[in-house]
Amino acid sequence: MPYWENHVRKVVPYTPGEQPKESGIIKLNTNENPYPPSPAVKSAYDAFDCADMRLYPAPDASELVGAIAETYGVKPSQVFVGVGSDDVISMAFMTFFGSDRPILFPDITYSFYDVWAEVYGIPYERVPLTAGFHIDPKDYIRPNGGIIFPNPNAPTGVLESTEMIEKVISGSPDSVVIIDEAYIDFAGSGKSVLPLVSKYENLLVVQTFSKSRSMAGMRIGYAIGSEKLIKYMNDVKFSVNSYTMNRVTIKCGAAALRDTAYFEETVAKIVKTRENAKSELSARGFEFPDSQSNFIFAKPPKLPAKTVFAELKKRRIYVRFWDKPVIGDYLRITVGTDDEMNALYKALDEILQEA
Ligand code: PMP
Repeated sequence: MPYWENHVRKVVPYTPGEQPKESGIIKLNTNENPYPPSPAVKSAYDAFDCADMRLYPAPDASELVGAIAETYGVKPSQVFVGVGSDDVISMAFMTFFGSDRPILFPDITYSFYDVWAEVYGIPYERVPLTAGFHIDPKDYIRPNGGIIFPNPNAPTGVLESTEMIEKVISGSPDSVVIIDEAYIDFAGSGKSVLPLVSKYENLLVVQTFSKSRSMAGMRIGYAIGSEKLIKYMNDVKFSVNSYTMNRVTIKCGAAALRDTAYFEETVAKIVKTRENAKSELSARGFEFPDSQSNFIFAKPPKLPAKTVFAELKKRRIYVRFWDKPVIGDYLRITVGTDDEMNALYKALDEILQEA
């Protein structure tokens, strides 16, 4: 092996869900929103003057940061924006998780956390969830280099209470605690831990435009925290790439936030379809923890999850499956439109009847 190759930063990358090239697929595999973004986003996009592309964007993305700050009632200096929440969380790992104590996250969770820990050389420990896929705060109250988990958790969809999360935050005043709220808008109002940001300087709340605001393709994520945390993150970001947010993204993101009515309406539609999906899947013998997100983590009856995944794929319905212990018994099914879900139930009936 040549000298340089011995010194390559070797990593096993995160595997994103499949993005098929052909059309006509019912895509329930990457937790995208089945509805388009707000018409206000289209107007902002159409109004964009391509001549402006010659100019660098505002490095502080102040229009977008300002709109986020206004939406959530915080100061712009408490908001960090990035290229999807993946970029935001990766920056947070780089910024805050530099100690030699392990960072803690659940054993069943977003499978990017261990990838970032590996790439940045951060020691980590996976903390087992309880039998019902819950987080026990006691497991996190011990010396650690930082804590991260999604709420609702992924891929389980299980929501933890603010009281439980506050125990974790107050139990680790010496570490940064990141709550990844990618799916929180589907959990009903008042479930976010954002109000705790004013109480705990060590809390960073991360959210995204990819799910509830239907903008996965634009790549917008943000973190809200104390001014101290955000300043540290911006110092790192401006040491890596000043211009992460492009001009079109800034305009379209700010426009999306202004259309509260559309946002609420779309989220309500997805929640309704999800609740209906719980009855439909239960009726077919699926088992699942109660989901408060835009997906259901369901264990099929009669057949292994792997078989059902393959059979659905043959019928051009994509769901997510991980060929791993424990989670390999389940399929993660994104909540689509009612029509898409009806096609799913029909396909499941066929597959399970043949079993
Ligand atoms: N956190 C969780 C828990 C997720 O499931 C996802 C989506 N893959 C993300 C963060 C990242 O989403 P995005 O980068 O699109 O904001």
